[in-house]
Amino acid sequence: MALTEASPQTPAGFAGLDISQEVLRAVARMGFTQMTPVQAACIPRMMQGEDIIGIAPTGTGKTCAFGIPMLEYVSLTDGRVQELVLCPTRELAQQIADELTQLARFIPEARISVIYGGQNMNKQIANLRRKPQIVVATPGRLLDHMQRGNIRLDAVHTMVLDEADEMLKMGFVKDVCKIIESTPTGRQLVMFSATTNPDVMTIAWKYQQSPAEIVIEATAETRPNITQYVIDSTRADKYEHLLYLLDSDQYKRVMIFCNTKDMTARLCARLQKAGYSADCLHGDLRQSGRDKVMQDFRKGRFEILVSTDVAARGIDVDDVEAVMNFDLPDKNEYYLHRIGRTGRAKRAGISFSFVSYAETVRLDEVLKYAGAQPVGLAFDSFGTLRRKADDAPFFAHV
Ligand code: ADP
Ligand code: MG
Repeated sequence: MALTEASPQTPAGFAGLDISQEVLRAVARMGFTQMTPVQAACIPRMMQGEDIIGIAPTGTGKTCAFGIPMLEYVSLTDGRVQELVLCPTRELAQQIADELTQLARFIPEARISVIYGGQNMNKQIANLRRKPQIVVATPGRLLDHMQRGNIRLDAVHTMVLDEADEMLKMGFVKDVCKIIESTPTGRQLVMFSATTNPDVMTIAWKYQQSPAEIVIEATAETRPNITQYVIDSTRADKYEHLLYLLDSDQYKRVMIFCNTKDMTARLCARLQKAGYSADCLHGDLRQSGRDKVMQDFRKGRFEILVSTDVAARGIDVDDVEAVMNFDLPDKNEYYLHRIGRTGRAKRAGISFSFVSYAETVRLDEVLKYAGAQPVGLAFDSFGTLRRKADDAPFFAHV
């Protein structure tokens, strides 16, 4: 396997790429000037038709890394599906389709369809009749359409598996294999994943041809700029401690994570009742409800989003100012996923974890896994939050 270590030292502009004016203009309109390391490594190779395994942390710009080559190589006069992106969740599918649509802003003949479970079949069928060249889908619903003869994949020349580790972990291995096998053998297969795992490697081994491996380490360069705090708390005090932070009025767009649907719903209801501008996202909500919550949060119609890990997976909302871990996550890797919601694309972010005494062992595990060294905070007996290292008040003005 060819190993490409992306070189972060020389940030390169998009203009140096051999790509169309339409896409260059769209990228400029999106406000991007320099390529991220994963983009610099992936775009030229993908445009040469190579198979790729990209291992990169969240927030490193993977969507454009595969989206730009996809738009360069789509034939606009051909009404067959030529390019297919698979991803684990409906939110992610919608988000990728949105980003591709932005990239295709100046290519009006490009038609992009998004297909996921939980949405009306007929609406999607009508969409497919408009002959999209590019389809973004979750595996289960796509198979459904394939089996009903609503979509054919025999003209696919580029296929992307995004968040492959997560998708395969969610039990989609068989579905993903079936879908890959329905595309022509010579198609380009590009995989992106935050981690490698045996399923990812199996798919690579079975279906890729001497893939280029692009590895982006979570270095200071790519690691989002997030200041992490841990607050000594107790189960009973967490809610009051959370309100202390919210009442500081420092954070206008906040995500709060809980471990269970039940806790998520209860915390959200409690905040709403107390007059906070909050809403929640968890797996028990209907799809239409989840879409609306996401849209409202993106548009700033409310300030505080309370969510479970699964519901928030991969979601990209710009300028979340603070992430709060009401509970420490059950799984170590979720910690980085969670705090990665803030500090996107080199903006500064902040995260708080409320840790009860019973959670201190978990905390050590999580921090070790994440390689994180957060700043410790504690409340004094007057209820003022202070830095443990020097006793300085956390909010000097409060
Ligand atoms: P990933 O899939 O690696 O988690 P995304 O593709 O969702 O990352 O991108 C993360 C954020 O960075 C998005 O808000 C995206 O619009 C932004 N972004 C992508 N490429 C660039 C770039 N070259 N310069 C600045 N911001 C970028
Ligand atoms: Mg992504």
